[in-house]
Amino acid sequence: MPCLLEKYRDFLPVTPQTPIITIGEADTPLVRSRRLEREIGCGELYFKLEGCNPTGSFKDRGMVVAVAKAVEAKNSAIICASTGNTSASAAAFGAVCSLTVFVVVPKGNIALGKLAQALVYGARILAIDGNFDKALEIVRAITQKHPITLVNSLNPHRIEGQKTAAFEIVDVLGDAPDYLFIPVGNAGNITAYWKGFVHYKQAGKALNTPKMMGFEAEGSAAIVRGKAIADPETIASAIRIGNPASWKGAVAARDESGGVIDSVSDDEILDAYKILGTQEGVFGEPASAASVAGLIKQRNNGTDFSNKRVVCVITGTGLKDPDTAIKSAMPPTELPADLETVERLVLQG
Ligand SMILES: *Cc1c(COP(=O)(O)O)cnc(C)c1O
Repeated sequence: MPCLLEKYRDFLPVTPQTPIITIGEADTPLVRSRRLEREIGCGELYFKLEGCNPTGSFKDRGMVVAVAKAVEAKNSAIICASTGNTSASAAAFGAVCSLTVFVVVPKGNIALGKLAQALVYGARILAIDGNFDKALEIVRAITQKHPITLVNSLNPHRIEGQKTAAFEIVDVLGDAPDYLFIPVGNAGNITAYWKGFVHYKQAGKALNTPKMMGFEAEGSAAIVRGKAIADPETIASAIRIGNPASWKGAVAARDESGGVIDSVSDDEILDAYKILGTQEGVFGEPASAASVAGLIKQRNNGTDFSNKRVVCVITGTGLKDPDTAIKSAMPPTELPADLETVERLVLQG
């Protein structure tokens, strides 16, 4: 299989000088729903499993382009602010390109698996006493002063790479779906998908573009409320962002596509998280479940999805956040190592 930079090079800022790097990113599964599709009453419902990327989230699509371009420009250091997944991805691609990687994260507020990844890939982790928005402010200022490449989604190469997920959906379905449901945090991804769908249509690879349905977490719903939020809160740490960098891009995606940007509560997110696991065999991280929570909310508000093709983006794997997984489920039943006791419980069902 050609890698992302090769396969979509005509749609990407790839030049003869761009190093073709890969750690196995992209080409993720688009899986048909077995049960939720019927419950919602969708014509067809699919999950785009971005947790199958090598570092476990869609961030790898944009990072491979951002890092390749940094290497092409002969930069030797990269930096990002992160709620966790951007840092994991930057650290992994930085490692294969022998770059120095600095990641600035909110102290005590990043999921355990994501922290473990940045450590294993050998990044310098700077944990600040502040939230993501503050971290982003700091790294922006540093990269304006010093020759270090910013690899947050403010880096336009990130958006370029991330739009390939829209290409893959069209390549598999033969056209764009009617609706795309997606979590919104810093709003880079909704911006990127929209760009991808529009480019593919312009290139004659699709006849249609989908309605873009973005969902913020209620406690961090800056775009929905129309103002930045100083202390964003939600269980879904990947979208705990109070002042989205790609705010304008998200609003444009909504308006140009005839879509919606709305919010879902933490309870709705956790319900969707459990439905994904127990009914679909999909273990996404809490932020990822916001897309499915959004679909359920729209259906409950009366939108008719019959005869419609719907894709929900499952942005990252649930393995990164074992704390939420364990807290949100029934604890294991503990019992003695005794055949009769185990057998009795098995027979009870
Ligand atoms: C980054 C991320 C998001 C949010 O994407 P934005 O581009 O910031 O809107 C959602 N889910 C996961 C798992 C992420 O890593």
